[in-house]
Amino acid sequence: MTRPVLPADATSSLADATLLVRGGATRSQFEETSEALFLTSGFVYENAEAAEAAFQNDGSRYVYSRYRNPTVTMFEERLRLIEGAQACRATASGMAAVFAALLCRLKAGDRVVSSRALFGSCHYIVADILPRYGIECVLVDGRDLGAWEKALAPGAAIAFCESPSNPAMEIVDLAAVARLVHRAGGLLVVDNVFATPLLQKPLALGADVVVYSTTKHIDGQGRTLGGAVLCSEKYLKDHFAFFYRHTGPCLSPFNAWILLKGLETLELRVERQCRTALGLARFLESHPKVARVLYPSLPSHPQYALARRQMKAGGSLIAFDIDGGKEGAFRFLNALRLVDISNNLGDAKSLVTHPATTTHAKLPPEIRAQMGIGEGLVRLSVGLEAEEDLRADLETALKEI
Ligand SMILES: *Cc1c(COP(=O)(O)O)cnc(C)c1O
Repeated sequence: MTRPVLPADATSSLADATLLVRGGATRSQFEETSEALFLTSGFVYENAEAAEAAFQNDGSRYVYSRYRNPTVTMFEERLRLIEGAQACRATASGMAAVFAALLCRLKAGDRVVSSRALFGSCHYIVADILPRYGIECVLVDGRDLGAWEKALAPGAAIAFCESPSNPAMEIVDLAAVARLVHRAGGLLVVDNVFATPLLQKPLALGADVVVYSTTKHIDGQGRTLGGAVLCSEKYLKDHFAFFYRHTGPCLSPFNAWILLKGLETLELRVERQCRTALGLARFLESHPKVARVLYPSLPSHPQYALARRQMKAGGSLIAFDIDGGKEGAFRFLNALRLVDISNNLGDAKSLVTHPATTTHAKLPPEIRAQMGIGEGLVRLSVGLEAEEDLRADLETALKEI
């Protein structure tokens, strides 16, 4: 049997940096240093009685990797400790996490209120898929607390938002929206991908469920797809566990093992990425060919005060408007030599994307405009390269506009 490396009572006093390396780890009888990879779909029983007992006592032992797996459990436990959540379940992608976190709770006749500024696929779940099942969805300007209040007034099962939003970097006042949705009898579900578990703690601000695409900063090196849902024991027991077990959005143990290793370096990477991103955001802001820069820890961000209140740093993503619309943006992207054009983010490699023609291309132009995604908007995911090299690359490419 595996046993925990840290005594359960030791974790509460440990800092994030320590938990990222040691939290949730268990060791087998071989006393391995690195977390073991249990690449197995099933588990065996000593006798028929043991199998019977395993199916009667949900969760007391491993029975099938669609439900739980020891490597996946280590990853879930490590992330749970960082987030300060009671429960965590890992999923095969960020979208599986968003979908399961919402659908496990919702039923026909329920109402969902969501901020409008969402990642493309999140928008499709909320605006297109949920209504097919008789779930009413209202989209609001996530920055406008009056709009949240009005939309939540008739009652709602769930409020959903991203903060900062992908890609327009809109910030939602999580504490205020949590209060409003609780008053409406519902729960707040937050997609915390842009902030990472280190820069923003939605649960501490009053949110009920946090979802991640671990594909992004938690992997951090662009290798795997994955996701996670963090919630209370009650949400897990009343809603999530049953849905997860039987609809099968589970994470592969191999990917969980990579993500465990990703967490070990998360703090180092995110700190460095934030530092470089702030430097590059300042540079872009001073450049005559950049019309506007959106970065949460620049004082020019329209919600700078709120961002400072609920985030520890600005994160690794910068959005900016380039003069010359789509043509200008394309020229800029095509002239970059170091930064790759890619719709992924949170990678060690700096990546740039033009949301209007890629991640958000299939949305009607008026919805894109409401989300703050203009034709000249560029999203830069800052990686781990030297700041001076990235700055030189941006500078050279901006000359091409
Ligand atoms: C990437 C992303 C997702 C989806 O994650 P996948 O792992 O690609 O499924 C959801 N929300 C946000 C904010 C994202 O950036």
